[in-house]
Amino acid sequence: MTDLHRLSIRELSEGLAGSKFSSRELTEHYLKRIAKIDAQVQSYVTVTPEQALAQADAADALRQSGMANVLTGVPVAHKDIFCTQGIKTTAGSKMLDNFISPYDATVVAKGKVAGLVTLGKVNMDEFAMGSTSESSYFGATKNPWALDHVPGGSSGGSAAAVAADLAPFATGTDTGGSIRQPASFCGLTGLKPTYGRVSRFGMIAYASSLDQGGPMARSAEDCAYLMNVMAGHDDRDSTSVNVAADDYVANLNSTSVKGLRIGIPKQYFNVAGLDADVKARVEESLKKLEEMGATLVEIDLNMTDAYVPTYYLIAPAEASSNLQRFDGVRYGYRCENPVDLTDLYKRSRSEGFGPEVQRRILIGTYALSAGYYDAYYVKAQKVRRLIQQDFLKAFESVDVIAAPSAPTTAYKIGASLDPVEMYLGDIYTIAVNLAGLPAINAPVGFDKDQLPVGLQLIGNYWSESQLLSVVHQYQQATDWHTKRAAIAEETV
Ligand code: GLN
Repeated sequence: MTDLHRLSIRELSEGLAGSKFSSRELTEHYLKRIAKIDAQVQSYVTVTPEQALAQADAADALRQSGMANVLTGVPVAHKDIFCTQGIKTTAGSKMLDNFISPYDATVVAKGKVAGLVTLGKVNMDEFAMGSTSESSYFGATKNPWALDHVPGGSSGGSAAAVAADLAPFATGTDTGGSIRQPASFCGLTGLKPTYGRVSRFGMIAYASSLDQGGPMARSAEDCAYLMNVMAGHDDRDSTSVNVAADDYVANLNSTSVKGLRIGIPKQYFNVAGLDADVKARVEESLKKLEEMGATLVEIDLNMTDAYVPTYYLIAPAEASSNLQRFDGVRYGYRCENPVDLTDLYKRSRSEGFGPEVQRRILIGTYALSAGYYDAYYVKAQKVRRLIQQDFLKAFESVDVIAAPSAPTTAYKIGASLDPVEMYLGDIYTIAVNLAGLPAINAPVGFDKDQLPVGLQLIGNYWSESQLLSVVHQYQQATDWHTKRAAIAEETV
């Protein structure tokens, strides 16, 4: 079959169960596509054909013996931030270019238990810091919709791989938008779960109080399948919450759009820099939801101006602390011929980390230093609480909150945004992480250059089923999620 990459996860599951094709055939098909097309997209850092085919054969054998799960034999790509035993895990950094983890991240281990076949590891901004995937040591990933544009970031490799049909779905992580924004830039569905829903064990830390893994795929239905694998309590992550995970697939029709109250934050639609096409497409999608029975309610989120400064203190502060472990001694990059210990630390870190990572370590160290700690870090934590309260107040009168996922569509590669300009592009996503809430991106059309636009829906704590269900119903009534980039149409 030459069009296996067109099939949804449900169709893949049914096809495997009905012996229409084997996991080996499916895996070989994806590996062929990667070999043919990925040179243009550069979504993969590492492709693991031998391991993938061995896993595929094991999946086929399991199926023969009647022991298969729903996803046994379905391929996946993992963001290169999840540790994979025996396979290089780089976090997009020279610092970890030689790092082979001795264990699997919980998300990867759960994938193996579910029978997923790992095609390889996909590119990302260095240590997940960025919004374009250009800060990767391994070079920029391209947006499948326009190869001279970025796929977004930091999970740009995950987004580009799925959008080019080089993986049926992929894992991502979101510290301040890194699932939702690349999903938006690449025309995909991506879910950032409630903080604590998905285990962070073995997920290389950027900002621990914000980081959360989640699924990236074509549709809410496909995301629900991967969410069923990823979600759940984990003893090895002390912030993983012991609340039973839902069956997200079974719940795809659990929430009715009829009667759903969607909050429209006034402040969000008056942000300077909100692109006219993005605004128009998002408003059209809201109109569609209104036609489907939802009620649009204007709300206030008064803390909007505080999002960027608060996030860009807290995230770098936590990053500066987390990244102390990369010292050139225990693992990772070590400089040549250090003259003494200080030289070893200094040069290993200066040579091993790229400029954006170093910038954030500097900002974070400054904000945490004696004398500035109260003025910056403690203040930011207080504002963070106010941002959370602002959302909780809004949820007293609405069920979900709508926003763009990003103020613009994908930037051109090398558009040389200065760092602050890039940080401002995170305005719609970062508050969700500061508050620990779940949110989803759904594709809702294109701008004048045929680049995808995304709608973001933010839910209350633990409302992943509701978000997936609302987007699923929107996707039953529209076809934006079925659109393919020209490069994805290439057959092998
Ligand atoms: N763009 C944001 C940042 O650079 C978010 C990144 C992320 O979610 N990992 O911090």
